[in-house]
Amino acid sequence: MKKIAILGSTGSIGTQTLEIVREQAGELEVLGLAAGGNVELMESQVREFKPRLVCMWTEEAAADLRTRVADMDVKVVCGMEGLLEIAVMEEISVLVTAIVGMIGIRPTIAAIKAGKDIALANKETLVCAGHIIMPLAKQYGVSILPVDSEHSAIFQSLNGEPAGRISKILLTASGGPFRGKTTEELKNMKVEDALKHPNWSMGRKITIDSSTLVNKGLEVMEAKWLFGVEASQIQVVVHPQSIIHSMVEYVDGAIMAQLGVPDMKLPIQYALFYPDRRPMQDNRVDFFKLGSITFEEPDMDTFYGLKMAYEALEIGGSMPTVYNAANEKAVALFLDRKISYLQIPEMIEKSMSSHVLIQNPDVDQILQTEKTVYEYIQGMI
Ligand code: NDP
Repeated sequence: MKKIAILGSTGSIGTQTLEIVREQAGELEVLGLAAGGNVELMESQVREFKPRLVCMWTEEAAADLRTRVADMDVKVVCGMEGLLEIAVMEEISVLVTAIVGMIGIRPTIAAIKAGKDIALANKETLVCAGHIIMPLAKQYGVSILPVDSEHSAIFQSLNGEPAGRISKILLTASGGPFRGKTTEELKNMKVEDALKHPNWSMGRKITIDSSTLVNKGLEVMEAKWLFGVEASQIQVVVHPQSIIHSMVEYVDGAIMAQLGVPDMKLPIQYALFYPDRRPMQDNRVDFFKLGSITFEEPDMDTFYGLKMAYEALEIGGSMPTVYNAANEKAVALFLDRKISYLQIPEMIEKSMSSHVLIQNPDVDQILQTEKTVYEYIQGMI
């Protein structure tokens, strides 16, 4: 039986990971769980999955949980110290990083140093610290197994192929709820409009990122680090049906793709059992019902969040962190209805142009950059 821990167990990826644990009864054991503030859901997860160690972000939430599960044999910890304690739990072999934000960087590094494989959903980790994470994983001989559906598709399309033969990566994008809209039409988009993703059911922050194409930008950066390619080798292809989850074009022009219905459980399960494949129910593509699939070029003028991602990647150093942090802060403000939809890319652009670049930043510099960007944006409003 594989023993795992999940950071972000109460979120969209976290709860779907636990569904897989439930469905694959007897194959996976959950020893550690971590979440932010959702004590109620965590209590029910603790009662069902019986982990030994649980972390809530604040001491207040941890104290609340401790009282609720006082009848159980579980240790409840809090804060970054608690996340790190879970990341290095002796018996686990895989850490699922399904936490949202740059808070995932330190636990991921700790887990790698402790020899754990990483089932990585937390894309911010690679976006900001890919230059630290990937060499470290190599040094400690651990696998970084992508959970993001596009990166899982690329990972699966690389299976059994010789190294160094990639011509380019074709990263598919649904285009989000605002595909085809003009800047004028985007002006008055509300939170509710942006949260209506046509194909995928995801957390709130990533759903907004999908609508601005910033999520695709973050995925371009993630792909660079995961697969060791240059930005110029990653092409975004809009494919509104979300059936092809991404493709790899090889030097001889052959293209390998992974297809499937849009369901995050498949890539999560693939990462958990890699290199094995386990049965899954009710997730088959019916090509006759589907009829056709289509492709378009992304509109990088209207959705210039994607264009800025390529620029940040090209500049490198601390710039991807600025891109990510500015977006995180701007999306949070948009969700709180403090700024308009189009202010999201504007804030990223202003943050990037005012930043003094740090080449090859260490973790402290990455986190300091995040803080500086947050303060800069706070100052703007
Ligand atoms: P959600 O917002 O649904 O969930 C986030 C999780 O992180 C929750 O469990 C939340 O806990 C927890 N969390 C937040 N802050 C803290 C903290 N300070 N300490 C501990 N836990 C914390 O996000 P998603 O599941 O959508 O996304 C998670 C990551 O996976 C993101 O990086 C995203 O980009 C990536 N991803 C998501 C996909 C998806 O389909 N959803 C697809 C591919 C990648 P609580 O609820 O208690 O606050």
